[in-house]
Amino acid sequence: MNPPAPNLDRKGKRNLPLILALILALLFIIYALAALISAFRNEEISLMLGLWYGAIIGGTAIAIIVGTRKERAAWRDELKKEDQNKPRILERAKELKGQRLSLDRQNHLRKVLPLYRKLPNSLKPKLEERILLFQEIVEFRTSSKFKTEITQQIKDIISAEACLLTVNRSPTDYLHLKQVELWDSPIIGPEDFSFWNKSPAGEAGRDMVRIDLRHLEASVNEGDDNYNIVLHEFAHVLDFVDDRIANSIPVSNDSNEYAKWKALLDREYPKLKKAHRKGLNPVLREYAVSDFYRGEFFPCATESFFERSVRLKKEDPEIYYLLKDFYILDPAEWIEGQ
Ligand SMILES: [Zn+2]
Repeated sequence: MNPPAPNLDRKGKRNLPLILALILALLFIIYALAALISAFRNEEISLMLGLWYGAIIGGTAIAIIVGTRKERAAWRDELKKEDQNKPRILERAKELKGQRLSLDRQNHLRKVLPLYRKLPNSLKPKLEERILLFQEIVEFRTSSKFKTEITQQIKDIISAEACLLTVNRSPTDYLHLKQVELWDSPIIGPEDFSFWNKSPAGEAGRDMVRIDLRHLEASVNEGDDNYNIVLHEFAHVLDFVDDRIANSIPVSNDSNEYAKWKALLDREYPKLKKAHRKGLNPVLREYAVSDFYRGEFFPCATESFFERSVRLKKEDPEIYYLLKDFYILDPAEWIEGQ
């Protein structure tokens, strides 16, 4: 049995408008407090103080509007630039058709990854083509504190599980992903969670994944413990791709599938929360309902989809079938050795 799964991970960066809105809210609170204290002392707030706060609040509101517009323009430019890479990736995917990993690398994956063993033999060559492509388009790097060596084996483990998610989807699914950063010490990202005294096992954004290798082995070497940091973080990446938001709706809001995902989430999220509150031991782990933005539901559902597929199909068929359509895979039917 693995050690208890570390529950905390991080997802991307907070966006600028949200930060500015928080500053604005804070200023309102300060202003309200100043007014309250003045009223309590039977004093009037001076005109100058009022003007000063008014100027700050007005200035912040303008900064929010300008910041949002600038960010949207930058986002459009970035998308355009990344879209230019699409034909190149599709072309490269075609060129890699039929190429396999060396027998040593295949044997290593077979030895350490139960999900690779379970994957139908008919899909293994395609997965290996995707691994080769993934390692060409994504840079593996280490944190400045990294002490151990990045081996080909570590790269293969991470790539194999990342590509398992997209093996039947488009080769351009990871178009926006630029780096996988490996740590062998607590991850220190843009947000510092040290006050929680917890160290995240992983972190994901639209263009970056960070993984603490100290959790890797325990996470991937059991194929049915419902915990897999690699599947989890790369599911976040797929959730980010369409709209830069990890909200457990991994399709764009103008797609035909959007309503289906939203309805599922609205229905299943409170149901799952209630099931955990009552101690009913549902398939999806509790971390799925731990996030205010509902961003953990999809990655945790993905973990269950691959690692508890038969149980998920039986107990939560609606979640299972929506994920089956998304990943174009049916892991409940996979039998090891076939
Ligand atoms: Zn997460």
